[in-house]
Amino acid sequence: MTRDSSLVSMLVSSVSGVAESLFATLFPSDCRFCGTPLVNISRLPVCQACLSDIRPLEGNVCSVCGERLLIPCALGAEGGDVRCGLCRRLEPPFLKAAAYGSYDGGLRELIHLLKYEQVLPAAAILGRMLREAVSGLESCGIQRPVVVPVPLHARKLRQRGFNQSELIAQQFVKLISGSGQMTLHSRVLQRRRETESQIGLTRHQRRENIRGAFTVARSEEITGREILLVDDVFTTGTTVSECARVLLRAGAAKVFVATVARTLKNEVKEVGFSQTMVDQDQTLAAG
Ligand SMILES: [Zn+2]
Ligand SMILES: [Zn+2]
Repeated sequence: MTRDSSLVSMLVSSVSGVAESLFATLFPSDCRFCGTPLVNISRLPVCQACLSDIRPLEGNVCSVCGERLLIPCALGAEGGDVRCGLCRRLEPPFLKAAAYGSYDGGLRELIHLLKYEQVLPAAAILGRMLREAVSGLESCGIQRPVVVPVPLHARKLRQRGFNQSELIAQQFVKLISGSGQMTLHSRVLQRRRETESQIGLTRHQRRENIRGAFTVARSEEITGREILLVDDVFTTGTTVSECARVLLRAGAAKVFVATVARTLKNEVKEVGFSQTMVDQDQTLAAG
């Protein structure tokens, strides 16, 4: 490197340093989660420490729906096919659902940032998390699936301006585009009816509430194919189950589900993420 070019690179780095601090001065912004002033120029107003705090699900989960199982580790090792009570009673229409993390704390905030505050750069990080969830499906032999995001009703789409599940799926497909294994088909599934809130309904009522809400618009794109159904959050599984049923009826061969987050029932019963849960997990891990 000549003396001039090293001088230039020194100038450039000091200029970019100045630009960054100038940016921070002109556009003072704090981390939206913890309030710490952000030092780097980023399109996502969340600090690195808060992002690093978002961890993937750990411990034993149902091999079908991904619900957390409060059983000793030794049991989970038995062939790896341990099912929750619900999946033992009712076979879900999807083969397996995988989620990256628990729908609480920073992950919940990150999803809300995208969905309710239109911070679109959050979709890139959520897409990376989705990729990790999908890697958990590879052991089940998922092959060249058609990626289908859970659709929003047209009115909701106009109101929000985008479908968060589609943005996350787009980012995910972009990440793995080199492999050419998966393609996004956003118009395959359509939501023809808006559904009322599922909160407070029984499982049976939720199914009735959502029945007929989805339709397949382009069945030729899914006939005989494996489907990777993508949503932001798996809450009770009613929505993805209904989507899976409709897709199978329209000719899909198999349906897998991947979501960024999942509600864990054992935590829902507690208020937020309880210490009891942590203690219990630690006891189990120690055992
Ligand atoms: Zn922070
Ligand atoms: Zn299950």
